[in-house]
Amino acid sequence: MHSSSAVSSWNSSGGSIKCGCNMDCVIYTTRRGENTGRRFYRCPRYNTPETCDFFKWIDDATQSTVNLTYQAIALQERQLASVEEQLKELKAIRCYVKSLFVTIIVIIVLYFVI
Ligand SMILES: [Zn+2]
Repeated sequence: MHSSSAVSSWNSSGGSIKCGCNMDCVIYTTRRGENTGRRFYRCPRYNTPETCDFFKWIDDATQSTVNLTYQAIALQERQLASVEEQLKELKAIRCYVKSLFVTIIVIIVLYFVI
């Protein structure tokens, strides 16, 4: 007999996850203990001898998605940093060209003065 808190389908981002028997996991909510209210995936055959004993907290699954998002942000920040580096180099080149131009003007002026 399944607990009344069991949900047979999970259609939020990514769909349901599979247990070791390659079956859709059932979602349960903890009713007692320090983890009350926490939801977890469990093998649909957990109370039978064929069960694979699959068990996973749902916020653990969410946490790995969050970690992936952080990794993507970190990657974007690295790319942004390299763009800023290139911009800095470009500014340095522009500065160099400007000083070269000033030097040429000074040489021309000196040429006419002398
Ligand atoms: Zn299973």
